Amino acid sequence: MLASWPGSSKKSKKCGKLIEQDAAVHPEAPMKKQDPSWNRRHFLQSSLIGAGAVIASTNETTVAAESDSKEPELTQEVDVLVVGGGTAGTVAAIQAGRLGAKTLLLERNSQLGGTMTTGGVAFPGLFDAWGKQVIAGIGWELVKESVELDGGEFPNFAKVPQRHWHNQVFTNQFLYALLCEEKCVAAGVEIAYYEFPQVVTRVEQGWQVDCAGFGTKRRILCRQIIDCTGGAEVVGMLGFNRLREEERQPGSFLYMLGEAHEPGRNQIHRIYVHGADSTNSRTATEANLAGRKSILEKVRQDKKRLMHLQPETGFRESYRIEGETMVTVNDYTTGRLFDDAISYAFYPVDLHTREGVKPQPLKPGVVPTIPLRALIPKGSRNLIVAGRCVSSDRLANSGLRVQASCMGMGQAAGVAAALAAKAGTTPLEVPLTEIHERLREHGQIVPEKA
Ligand SMILES: Cc1cc2nc3c(=O)[nH]c(=O)nc-3n(C[C@H](O)[C@H](O)[C@H](O)COP(=O)(O)OP(=O)(O)OC[C@H]3O[C@@H](n4cnc5c(N)ncnc54)[C@H](O)[C@@H]3O)c2cc1C
Repeated sequence: MLASWPGSSKKSKKCGKLIEQDAAVHPEAPMKKQDPSWNRRHFLQSSLIGAGAVIASTNETTVAAESDSKEPELTQEVDVLVVGGGTAGTVAAIQAGRLGAKTLLLERNSQLGGTMTTGGVAFPGLFDAWGKQVIAGIGWELVKESVELDGGEFPNFAKVPQRHWHNQVFTNQFLYALLCEEKCVAAGVEIAYYEFPQVVTRVEQGWQVDCAGFGTKRRILCRQIIDCTGGAEVVGMLGFNRLREEERQPGSFLYMLGEAHEPGRNQIHRIYVHGADSTNSRTATEANLAGRKSILEKVRQDKKRLMHLQPETGFRESYRIEGETMVTVNDYTTGRLFDDAISYAFYPVDLHTREGVKPQPLKPGVVPTIPLRALIPKGSRNLIVAGRCVSSDRLANSGLRVQASCMGMGQAAGVAAALAAKAGTTPLEVPLTEIHERLREHGQIVPEKA
């Protein structure tokens, strides 16, 4: 932990009622004073799957999960809370952990990787532009290791491809999820699956986040939040502005019919789910029901075996934040080099509609950049986002939302939040040169003036 919370050594009684009436607090609402009855009892960080004993039986190996923590309510203090362990969030958490910030990663599903793993879109792009690599860092480290471990192949980034997707990387979604966990643990990041924030309250030092999970109520006191939920859910809970189109790009359900899916070698079939909406459990349920129904119809129609099915819909678009700045499609297609650029991005403008998709490639030499201020919800403090919810207009977002760019944003958000927690400031007040230095130290490529 970078610095202790004032009075955090004092003892106090057990955590009280966690669910409050005012479920979301507007940013302008007066700050809640730190409740002196905060549970200071330090939660013993026993992971649910601890040092597992491996027991060999006659025909199978059993890994016994040890759990010391049977308490249904716990309170914990961290420097950085990352909400959403998907494409961007995993990278953000690893980065914050590697910088020494005490980091907790909250993921409402059962594994890391988000759209890359649970959604099945294991085809990340684009790390290169015009013959050279432009995004590297922790995201690339994960992708590279997963491909190497899987005996897979890399595209040749020195070659400018005929079609943009020729330089996307086939990754094994299962291995990718395993590596995400391994690297989080190695970076000292604690992972909390099946949990999500219910109430977020501003307090003197940062945030109090009350979370729910089955059999668990967790109160988190943190200095910084990185919202990597895809649709900026924490930003929405806090009442900051978000943008959303009336008609969004379709989602897709990924499956394989008639032939086996070979992870890391081929792409999975995709069926559009029009109207797919990831806003809440009800709309996500509707998308899943519609997607699975279409696949069942297809199985009956094509009379082929269903060989592979992802567990849920992949959502291309939902909410984007209104940030301190907004990347426009003109910024994107002209490759504007923002003063506070923290990552490159590269992909055609790629808007899916009911008629399909016609990618509009960027002009030769153009490499867009992503500014730090597009990750900061307008008017906020101690809050940063990363991923597809980046502040951008719809067309710019259709290019920015891809995986390599999300990873680039995740790493920058991890650095900014960790440094802000350390300095007791907010991500926007961390000197940009320091963010850039840390990014370079951790293998990322930082946009520079020619
Ligand atoms: C069908 C489809 C095809 C695509 N094709 C490509 C492609 O070929 N190449 C490419 O590079 N990109 C592609 N993309 C885009 C890209 O995959 C996504 O835009 C990107 O992965 C989004 O990353 P993210 O980190 O913002 O969100 P995600 O990876 O979706 O992560 C969000 C995470 O947050 C968790 N979460 C959400 N809410 C909460 C909460 N309240 N509490 C806790 N956890 C929460 C989710 O469970 C999830 O794990 C495609 C997307 C789709 C849907």
